[in-house]
Amino acid sequence: MSGRRIVVVGSCNVDLTTFTDRFPKPGETMFGTRFDLGFGGKGANQAVAAKRCGADVAMVARVGNDLFGEATVRNFERLAIDATHVRILDGLSSGVAPIFVDPSGQNRIIVVKGANDALRPADVDAAAPLLEQAACIVLQFEIPLQTIAHTVAFARARGIRTIVNPAPALPVDLATLQGVDYFIPNQTEAGMLTGRPVGTHEEIAACARVLVDRGMRNVIITLGEEGAWMANAGHAEAIPGVAVATVDTTGAGDAFIGSFAAFLAEGLDERVALERANLYAALSTTTVGTQKSFMTREQFSRALAGR
Ligand code: ADP
Repeated sequence: MSGRRIVVVGSCNVDLTTFTDRFPKPGETMFGTRFDLGFGGKGANQAVAAKRCGADVAMVARVGNDLFGEATVRNFERLAIDATHVRILDGLSSGVAPIFVDPSGQNRIIVVKGANDALRPADVDAAAPLLEQAACIVLQFEIPLQTIAHTVAFARARGIRTIVNPAPALPVDLATLQGVDYFIPNQTEAGMLTGRPVGTHEEIAACARVLVDRGMRNVIITLGEEGAWMANAGHAEAIPGVAVATVDTTGAGDAFIGSFAAFLAEGLDERVALERANLYAALSTTTVGTQKSFMTREQFSRALAGR
């Protein structure tokens, strides 16, 4: 391990959330009630969570040559996340997620991957000097799987720790991810990736074992309010959920992964890092929003001391 820095090789999206009394019919134009524009994408969210937790963070990503691309780069700079390897590409849109929400809270989401789909293995190689300084490289499934596999191999060859969050769940040949240090799906993703049931504790434990047998060094299945299940070749245990007054769980998984990376990179023992990530993610559900629901290090330290 060569440093304390976290590098996220991942996605940037802009979430375009439109609140409406009802969804429009085909061909209909109607007025919505409210609009919210926010920076998102699992990669960017996890980078922001890690940064808020006090880590030194860099992002490797691609955005389009549009209003959102420029704004995304400026947002990273504002947050003091190194965006040297966030490149603006001509001829592609930025990743966007138009989200429509009705008064019951039901949503309809269309994700356009745009420039995220153009992050190639060669771009990872071009960022080698940055990646080689990383204590930990964090990946999700919103960029091409080929790029993820390439980055995992790159990291393994250099002894750099990897965290892979297989979200959203996509059919993947797990052999291409051999040796990932921390493979962190949620319950649904774990079920889809293994084709196994994940309803009971026994089923979750069996599912984690399958993922370990397929070459993931540590598997952490996040279980919403029930916390997480952690397993590796020699050990398995539950990390119990933290009871909080939840109002919005959006981005909880990103809070968990970004903060876990930060706690690991600062040298905390893995079990302690997991417990802290579990608390950090639980606390993110007590306020509305994704990136804006992530506590700063100072807020988190106070919350931790109060327990
Ligand atoms: P995702 O957001 O990817 O669907 P989960 O729902 O499993 O992932 O949540 C990720 C983590 O966030 C959990 O492991 C837990 O630490 C925390 N969390 C999520 N929902 C709650 C909740 N209602 N109460 C407490 N912690 C929660």
